[in-house]
Amino acid sequence: MNLLAATTNPHKLAEIRALLAGLPVRVETLAAHPALGAPEETGTTFAANARLKAAYYGSRSGLRAVADDSGLEIDALDGAPGVRSARFNGASYPQKFAAIYELLRARGVAGSAARFVCAVAVADGERIVFEARGVVEGRIAGAPAGGGGFGYDPIFFYPPYGRTLAELSPAEKAAISHRGQAFRALRGFLQTTPRGR
Ligand code: IMP
Repeated sequence: MNLLAATTNPHKLAEIRALLAGLPVRVETLAAHPALGAPEETGTTFAANARLKAAYYGSRSGLRAVADDSGLEIDALDGAPGVRSARFNGASYPQKFAAIYELLRARGVAGSAARFVCAVAVADGERIVFEARGVVEGRIAGAPAGGGGFGYDPIFFYPPYGRTLAELSPAEKAAISHRGQAFRALRGFLQTTPRGR
């Protein structure tokens, strides 16, 4: 079965490939389908954006398409950056981290509770045939730490491991992460539901 993974983020793609390894599925990427363009992510929830992307790529490619939408919610910042995680304040992650620590300082908060959320949707053509959501709870680290992972991983402290996600190996991260949870549910769906049902 061919599956179009609807992301241009190479880090997300690497995690998705690892999470789907061993399935009888050939993962195609958007790099092989440059003519498809990209939808505007107008949803106000992770789930809405995942559905919108899966349906867009499923209907235009004729392939079964899987899309994920994910991001970081910080309680003390009313859930920001949320669905705007990729576009939030500043071009680089060090700039985004500085902006977050500044906003937290302005609110007199250190170490706010936070979570990563991942919504996954699969479309056959335009029809959404599967959805799942994964969440990992933690808090904002006192300072960025670690060189692994991507995005906001260095500032996300995961209490059960006593480390940030950027200090975990890829396998340790996948075992507990929002994306790991959502894509393990997807594995189950792909194993039991052939295309067209
Ligand atoms: P999306 O590609 O529109 O879903 O945006 C996801 C954004 O959320 C990423 O570009 C990162 O900024 C952030 N994000 C999502 N998952 C992770 C993760 O596992 N670690 C760190 N940051 C993440």
